[in-house]
Amino acid sequence: MGINAGTRLTFQPLILGMPRLGSWIEPFPEGIYVRPADAWVDPSEAKENALVTHGHADHARGGHGQVWATPETLAIMGVRYGEQNPVPVEHGETVRIGEVDVTFIPAGHVLGSAQVLLEYEGERVVVSGDYKRRPDPTCAPFEVTPCDIFISEATFGLPVFRHPPTSDEVRKLLDRLEAEPERCVLVGAYALGKAQRVIKELREMGHDAPIYYHGAMERLCNLYEELGVELGELRPVSEATKDEMRGHIVICPPGALNDRWSRRLPEPITAMASGWMRIRQRARQRNVELPLIMSDHADWDELTTTIREVNPKEVWITHGREDALMHWCMINQIKSRQLNLVGREDEDD
Ligand SMILES: [Zn+2]
Ligand SMILES: [Zn+2]
Repeated sequence: MGINAGTRLTFQPLILGMPRLGSWIEPFPEGIYVRPADAWVDPSEAKENALVTHGHADHARGGHGQVWATPETLAIMGVRYGEQNPVPVEHGETVRIGEVDVTFIPAGHVLGSAQVLLEYEGERVVVSGDYKRRPDPTCAPFEVTPCDIFISEATFGLPVFRHPPTSDEVRKLLDRLEAEPERCVLVGAYALGKAQRVIKELREMGHDAPIYYHGAMERLCNLYEELGVELGELRPVSEATKDEMRGHIVICPPGALNDRWSRRLPEPITAMASGWMRIRQRARQRNVELPLIMSDHADWDELTTTIREVNPKEVWITHGREDALMHWCMINQIKSRQLNLVGREDEDD
């Protein structure tokens, strides 16, 4: 049965000489380096050349030499970090960087979010950044892109994470508001993406009353409107009286839910919109009375469905709960690998 020494000598150099799939992509703790483009995808440190998938702080940092991103992502980065050296790339557009063809494809995560398709010497690698599959009225839907290597997040990479239909959660919020018209419902939501999505989902359910917002939301809400996402009538809490806000929805960043700021509100019912609200303990930690399970990340079913549809030769997993997804890949005979990137999942669940 054994292979004799002579055979091994013949075969070994051949095996060693075969380039590994994606050998031109090098994962480092601070990001994914694309050697033939001399560029980084979502680097967490300032780099000369950066390809940025979307505006969340764990993917987009300031201080890069040059930034390739969608016009929306560049606008978001402009609001947060000031002037960049931007190279706008529209969804669906391909640009050549070094020896690599780079295409930005919608990821369905937040406004402007993109997967980055990298093509080099006949190999196709998709870096998905963060993504979700369910409809989001504030951004373009995820597009399945066949490739050899699919680099995926796994924020909610456990079978326990199954996000309910968004409309059920929005209904819950409206029912509670109607049940106690003398109070307000204060919704904690991330300032980029989640806040605007909650507002837009409410509008789509027919809620056209003014929605009040914490000052930290103002610039990004305005930017969404400038970029064509209509959010209806929004009013700053700072200019409203307590009585005026009774029976209304107020949106704030999660950090403001329990702080002194909320004392100016009329007996707020505390809610929070996040995929983590699936976990009771997380809701209790934040004193959340009304947990709303709304995530901008793929849940377990979306992750596994996406991998099936993309049908890659290999899956590389960047951040989140890798173990269960790697196990699922193994059972489904898909090669998988864990990349140990640092500083992910800061602000966007
Ligand atoms: Zn992320
Ligand atoms: Zn994100």
